Formats: sequence, structure tokens, C-alpha cells
Amino acid sequence: MAAPTSFEASTHHGISGHEIVLLLETDPHRGLSGDEAAQRLKRYGRNLLPAQRGAGLLLRILGQFHHPLIYVLLIAGTVTALLGEYVDSVVIFAVVIVNAAVGFIQESKAEAALQSLRALVRTDAKVVRDGHERVITSEELVPGDLVLVEAGDKVPADIRLLREVDLRVDESALTGESVPVAKNEVVLPDATPVADRHNMAHSGTLVTAGSGAGVVVATGAETEIGEIHRLVGTATILATPLTEKLARFSRVLTVGILALAALTFAIGLLRNQDAVETFTAAVALAVGAIPEGLPAAVTITLAIGVSRMAKRRAVIRRLPAVETLGGTTVICADKTGTLTENQMTVREIWTPDEPVVVTGAGYATDGALLSRSGTPVSLETNAALRWTLLSGAACNDAVLTSAGDRWDIVGDPTEAAMLVVAVKAGFTPEALVEAQPRVDTITFSSERQYMATLHRSGNGHVVLVKGAVERMLELCSTQMRADGAIEPIDGPAVLKAVETLAAEGLRVLATGVRTPADPADFSEEALPGAVTLTGLQAMLDPPRAAATPAVTACHTAGIAVKMITGDHASTASAIAGAVGVLDNGAADDRAVLTGADLAALPPEEFPDAVERASVFARVSPEQKLRLVEALQDRGHVVAMTGDGVNDAPALRQANIGVAMGRSGTEVAKDAADMVLTDDDFATIEAAVEEGRGVFDNLTKFITWTLPTNIGEGLVILVAIALGSALPILPTQILWINMTTAVALGLMLAFEPKEAGMMTRPPRDPGQPLLTRALVGRILLVSGLLVAGSWWLFEWELANGATLPEARTAALNLFVVVEAFYLFSCRSLTQSAWRIGLFTNRLLVVGVMVQAVAQLLITYLPAMNSVFQTAPLDAGGWLRIFAIAMVVSVVVGAEKWLRARR
Ligand code: ATP
Repeated sequence: MAAPTSFEASTHHGISGHEIVLLLETDPHRGLSGDEAAQRLKRYGRNLLPAQRGAGLLLRILGQFHHPLIYVLLIAGTVTALLGEYVDSVVIFAVVIVNAAVGFIQESKAEAALQSLRALVRTDAKVVRDGHERVITSEELVPGDLVLVEAGDKVPADIRLLREVDLRVDESALTGESVPVAKNEVVLPDATPVADRHNMAHSGTLVTAGSGAGVVVATGAETEIGEIHRLVGTATILATPLTEKLARFSRVLTVGILALAALTFAIGLLRNQDAVETFTAAVALAVGAIPEGLPAAVTITLAIGVSRMAKRRAVIRRLPAVETLGGTTVICADKTGTLTENQMTVREIWTPDEPVVVTGAGYATDGALLSRSGTPVSLETNAALRWTLLSGAACNDAVLTSAGDRWDIVGDPTEAAMLVVAVKAGFTPEALVEAQPRVDTITFSSERQYMATLHRSGNGHVVLVKGAVERMLELCSTQMRADGAIEPIDGPAVLKAVETLAAEGLRVLATGVRTPADPADFSEEALPGAVTLTGLQAMLDPPRAAATPAVTACHTAGIAVKMITGDHASTASAIAGAVGVLDNGAADDRAVLTGADLAALPPEEFPDAVERASVFARVSPEQKLRLVEALQDRGHVVAMTGDGVNDAPALRQANIGVAMGRSGTEVAKDAADMVLTDDDFATIEAAVEEGRGVFDNLTKFITWTLPTNIGEGLVILVAIALGSALPILPTQILWINMTTAVALGLMLAFEPKEAGMMTRPPRDPGQPLLTRALVGRILLVSGLLVAGSWWLFEWELANGATLPEARTAALNLFVVVEAFYLFSCRSLTQSAWRIGLFTNRLLVVGVMVQAVAQLLITYLPAMNSVFQTAPLDAGGWLRIFAIAMVVSVVVGAEKWLRARR
């Protein structure tokens, strides 16, 4: 076979669909054969985007040096070298390089982790192969495949369209143009630019409306988006509001530190001290006060948060979501599929003459239709029941497949349930299709709230309809009796029946028929008033087992949970009561609002009403956007779930847009910050918990690291002001900062979540990272460090120690105090004993590594000469540990007092 590779990519749009089919040796209706597809897969490779080039390696490495604090170090290192202090200079440069290497590795790891997480959210493609429609992963697509797309899909490859119905595609991923483009299959001039190739659907773009079919002409790197990827590369953005805040903080800090260093230098000169020595002191102050480990700690903590969330089936698509999640104050969740299983079973059928109970469970087709008295009902004697079952089963796109003794469904669970009940009543799906071939369809959508199909029946036609009851009452003017007689509809009786069923938490759909029907009249405009209601089908969708405890956990954590659903208010209320969203005891008639209620609210009352209500029923996707905005106006941090194309604006507006991994459309996933791979509400709660953990661990790291920096800076400042020798040298300070940040501080990122974290109220979005209490503690520890190290240094000198020995004692004091304080920082409120000393194994390992490092710098002659240290005797260590104990006791007492208050 001639390989289709000879085919020029730029001309796909310039020839007819017929020619494309010939050229790619495929069939416009049956698609490729499975064998041919397998061969082409070998030849062309998987349909994957080429590995991103990203920003150039050199640029990324250089980027690590592009921090104001690093500039200070670089300048300090250079001047130190010019002054002939080569050892100091080498140590400073070594620190800068180690810091850059750690930063680079961490960033690359975080980036790789985020990218591999994306792969968890798999994109499927609908293809026709061997004449059968099937769903495959988009990776398996090959040139020549016949692909079907519909609203909500991501176009899986570059496709030349053969057929389409109202197809509209959002091509912003490719062209930047966000207004969806209408597609057709008309041949275009060869020179048409990509953005105007209306007969092509390009890989990575999103179908916002309609449907279409076409032949794959390019996959993977050969696609237009593949080309762009190769050229530009889109680096993963690792910035979050917090990292930006920290970046601003470090700019301010740099200025502050430089000013202080200059002041130190000036004081030294004024006191007629040696210029070189004073300069060294100023450098020491600068390097000491710079929290070198902070950027790496933030990235690592966020990355660990992302992977912990992924383990709990929440995939983060945008890094800022990790920290925003922890501050969530309201979760707006869909009912169907998120709070419930989305496993529908018809339990009752209502017709004007006879209610029917249905037995059986799940999608299994064993079960029977019984009257209230328990006797089997006969379809022969109840025409309305027969039509109700028929409408439900034939106006239906779901497919039932049996896998051994298990039944699986393809398609919408609501429809599958109606198919199952028809089989229980004795219909067979194949016979149904054969007896009444479908001619046309008005598809279901959340806005339309019904579906209608036109069928050939005997010599004429019949229209079958099913949908939400309120909507169906607008379409129906008559109802059918058991004997087949048609009479004016008794709306109040129907609504009463609906209320009774919905109050049990059942989802109720009405069915209707129009017979005989004129095919020319099959349109949305012609249906109102022209349909005969035949009955109601009520189905159970059980609440998810994990939903109730998760909702309770949210409430305990001060997070409001609101249910948003397209379903009937009574059904929604019953389910909301069952999962705890609605407090059954409190009879607040404002707790449940319908879409109509929302529309009728005066704008000034809208936010109040939204904040008070817990259940929003019969809500349209457009109203979701208004709900999010109203809650945000109230200062809430809103997580909102969604799955459809029309949910995208609300998902984007929400602080955390949450899409469903299984049932959600690609459009929704694209707009979301987080994707739930199991669609479960409990997963949102889990992610919030992890988000709080991330924020906690970051705060703990900062609370731990700052006292060292402040303490070191102050010690130098005091030494200069008093005109005495420096208790620690710049290289020693760098040693402390670097080793403790890696061996001690970073271990806080692995800190398990604290018990009781989900009993606290959410963090106030406006609250600064460090509360006043924490600032107080940081200053307290800084002060203790200064006093302790000063006293120790002076004591050692006064008692005959050499300068290097006294400095080694001061250096070790800083590290030992940091190690002790590390255990205290594992909880910002509880005592270190309370959470157990060994519950974070990594932390214990880190402390041991640090201990070895301290022994080396204290006793290894080579290190003694580089860092100007000297061995300590047992007495020295004793004094160090005694001071560290005192600091721990004081910090413990401060915590205890604050907790008591
Ligand atoms: P949620 O927003 O909680 O996921 P939902 O699934 O009930 O709720 P929609 O899918 O918008 O929301 O459905 C709205 C209403 O339309 C349903 O309550 C039901 O009455 C009706 N409906 C649902 N699916 C179909 C369908 N396939 N054909 C006809 N009507 C349907």
C-alpha cells in the first residue's frame, strides 16, 4: 500500500473529502480496519505531542541566579575575592552554585511531576473502525482513522471534516481567538491560513457545539499544535500567589538587608575599624539574613502537596490551586455523580390510572413490574404504561451490554435505567429499534431538559419525548389513560404524583408521545402543546457512601457545602438531606432555591439569598456563574464543580474549578484547576485537607527559618556596634543556612497533616502568611539566639578559649537550637511532645545527618581550616545543649500560654 506520508500537510483543506478518503485509503463510513490501524500505528507512532523543548537549558539554569538575594551574594563573593579573602569567596560562590543546583533540580522535578499528572487525565477519542463505533485513547489514533467529535470533546488529532452538524470549535489553543469558529466541509484555496481552515478540526481545540465526523490527516508532532509545541515550548508555570508574595517579600528584604549591611559598614568605619574586616562583617550580615532555602522549600512543599493530592485522586492542573484549596470556604458541588453514584434504577412508574412498583437492583435486568398489591401488571391492559416504557427505551441513546452476569452501560445512566426497566417489562432493545426505526432526534441538553425522537411506525410516524416534568408539562396538553383514551391533562394531579416521588429522593422524568406525527413538524417550535403525557418514571440514584462523612467533615472545618443541580427541587432536597447538605431539622424555606427563584430575585438580594441557601435546583449552567460571582463578592473562596461545556465559564471564575475526570467533558477539564479522577465529592474534601496541610507546612518552614536569619544578622550588628570580634564568620553563617535548610528545614515539607486540622475554620483569605502570634514567636526565638550565642561566645573567650573555638561553639549553638526548635515547629499550636518526637521519620534522619555534618565541621582538620573552626571539648557541648534546652522550654511555655489564652 502506498504510504500516505507523501501527502503534503498544507493541502488537506484544499481537496475534497472524497479525495482525502482515497488518498488516506480509508472508508468514509466504516473507517479503517483494526489490522490496518495497528500497522499504521507502528509506522506513524503514537499520537502524542513531542516532548516540550521548554525554555533552553542554559536559560533555565541562569534563571536560578535571577533573584535579588542571589545578586547580593554574587557581589559579596566578588568583592571578597578582590579583597583577597579567597576561601570566603569560594565558599560564597559554592553556596550560590549549590543553591542554584538545588533550585534547578527541584523545579525540574516539580515540572515533570505536574506534566506527568496531566497524563493521568486521559483523553479519549471516538473512532469508527471495521464499521463499529468505539472509544479508544487518543494516543492510538492513526492517519486515516474516521473520528467522531461532539460538543464537549477535545479534538484528538488534525482532522479533515467529512460531515458536520452545527459544529463549532474553540480554537484559542491554536490561534488565540476565543470566539468559537463555525465549521463546514467546503474545499478551500491552498493558501488559506490555519485560522481560516473551516473544513479542518485541529488537534487540541475544543468542540463547543454540534457534532462532526472526519478523517485524521495528521497525528502527534505532525499536527498544527505539535508544530507550535516544537517551536515555542510551553514551560509549566510554577508561580503561585504565594510564590509571588514571597518574591515581593524577598525584594523588600533585599533592600532592607542591604541598608542594614551598609549601616553596619558605616558604623564600623566611623569607629575606625579595619575596612576589610568591617566589609567582611557587612557581608556576613547580608548572607546571614538571607533565607537562601526559602524558594526551594516553597517549590518542594507545593510539589509534595500536588503528589499527595494525586494519590487521593485529585489531579491539580494549575499549581496555584494547591494553596488556594486550603483556603476554600464554600464548595458548590453537583448532585448527580458527585454527591450521588450516578447509578440510576427505576423504582416506580406512575400513570394516570395505576402506579407501578419495579423490583431489582442496579442495571441488572432481573426484576418485575408489580402493582401496589404485589401482582404483576400487564402491559396489555395499560396502554399508557406501554407507551411510557416505549418512550423511555426508544427515545434513548444508551446501550446495555452484558459481561457475564454483570450488566454494563454505555451512555447516560438516566437513559440506561429506562432501558433496563423496559427489558424487565419484556421489551428487547433490538426489536424496539427494528419495529420503530429512528428518523430524527432533538438531543437532550441541560438547557432544553428534554429529548425527542421521530420514528417510523407502520406507515406513519410517531414522536417520542422524555424529560424533566416541568418542561414536559409545557409540551403536553393531553394525557393518556390505561385504555388508550386521550383526555386533557390533569396538571395538578401529575405534579402531586411528582412531589410524592421526588420527596423520596427519586429523580422523576415524564414521558410523552405524539401519534400520528408529521415529520415536517418535528422541531422544538412545533412540540409545545402537541404532546400527550403517558406517565412518569422515578429512579433512585443512591448517595455516595463517602459523601455524608465528607460533607460532615467540611462542616466541621467551617466550609459551607452547596448542592447545585439540574434536578427537581424536591429530589434535590431529599438527597441533600440524606448526605447532610441540608439540615433536616431546621425548616428554613430559604435553604432551597430553584433557578426560577434565582431569576426572580432583585439583584441587591441575590448575594444574601445565595449565601443562605444550600440547595440550588433546576439551575442552568449560566446561573452557576452568577452564583460563583455572588459568593466571591461576599469574600468567599469558592470551589465549584462542573462537567459540561456550559460549565466552563463558572469553572474559570471559581477560585478552584473542579472538573469530573470520568463523566466530564474535555472542555470542562480544560477550564478546571483540578480534576477528580473518581468524580467523588469526598475527593474534594480530601484535596482541601491536603491544601491546608501544604499551607501549614509552608508556614512552619518560614516560622522555623526566619529566627536563624534574624539572629545571625543581629549578632553581627551587635558585634560591630560594640566593636568586638564577630561571634560567627560569613562562611560559617553560610554553612549554617545551607546545611540546616536542606537537612532540617526541608523535612518540614514532609510533615504529616496535623490532627485536628479539619476542625479549624478556613484561613481568612486576607490574612497574611504570618499571624501576629507567629511574628512574636519568631522575634522571641531570634532574641534568645542572639542572647545565647553572645553569652556563650563571650564566656568561652573569657574562660581561655581561642577565637576559632569560641566561634565554633557559637556556630554549633545556632545549629543545635535550630534542631530543637525544628521539633517545636512541627506544630504551630501544640507542644512538640504532644505530636510525638518520631512521627516524621525523615525529620529524625535529617537531624542525624545534620549531627554528622556538625561533627565534621568541628573535628575534621580540613574543614577546620576552610571554615576557621576548632574542636570543642565536652564542656562546650554541654553548655550548647543547656542553652538549647532553655530556648525550647521558653518557646514551649510561650505556646502553652498562648494556647491557654
Ligand atoms: P446535576 O447538575 O446534579 O448533575 P442533573 O444531571 O439532574 O444534575 P441535568 O443533566 O441538567 O442535571 O438534567 C436536568 C433534568 O433534565 C433532569 O433532572 C431530568 O429531569 C432531565 N434529564 C436528564 N437527563 C435526561 C435525558 N437523557 N433525556 C431527557 N431528560 C433528561
